[in-house]
Amino acid sequence: MGGPEIDHLIGLLAKLPGMGPRSARRAALKMLQQPELRMLPLASALAAAAAAVKPCADCGNLDSQDPCVVCADPRRDRSIICVIEGVGDLWALERTGVYHGLYHVLGGTLSALSGIRPEDLNLASLLTRVEEGEAHEVILALGATVDGATTAHFLADQLRPTGVAVTRVGQGVPIGGALDVLDDGTLAAALRGRRSA
Ligand SMILES: [Zn+2]
Repeated sequence: MGGPEIDHLIGLLAKLPGMGPRSARRAALKMLQQPELRMLPLASALAAAAAAVKPCADCGNLDSQDPCVVCADPRRDRSIICVIEGVGDLWALERTGVYHGLYHVLGGTLSALSGIRPEDLNLASLLTRVEEGEAHEVILALGATVDGATTAHFLADQLRPTGVAVTRVGQGVPIGGALDVLDDGTLAAALRGRRSA
């Protein structure tokens, strides 16, 4: 329609979550019609975020500071670590304002089908944190899927020798990439309803 630059732009946009070819074309057109207002600020925001944002060495959260803003906050309760699959889960929990402990982002779940092994996830550093840190409780807030359950069992086994209390959030709650869709009350209830793993 309008040259390879436009096709390339639409192709990249269409790969983003929640986007398809149709919404990518609409977004591209909107930007191209107002490049100063929409396109150039986005381009510089993308470049700045790509250069500055890194995983936190302690918890795996994405931030431009390391340790991240959660780990560096002296008001957070260091006796609890909530283990989650992804940073999206962390954002969802933070939005609710009901959790004041620390996090540990696994970066996925164990999966025999996809060949994801313990060494592929941010697991070893969790054990180190529990062994060397001040945590008294580890909350497993993983997906209510086969892979989520497998990962939770594996983690509970790994953590048992450390003596830390291991709990799981209420069953049936679609946590794990799906925390976003839960309302705050449901999330708060899931956290309150956690039980020994
Ligand atoms: Zn952190």
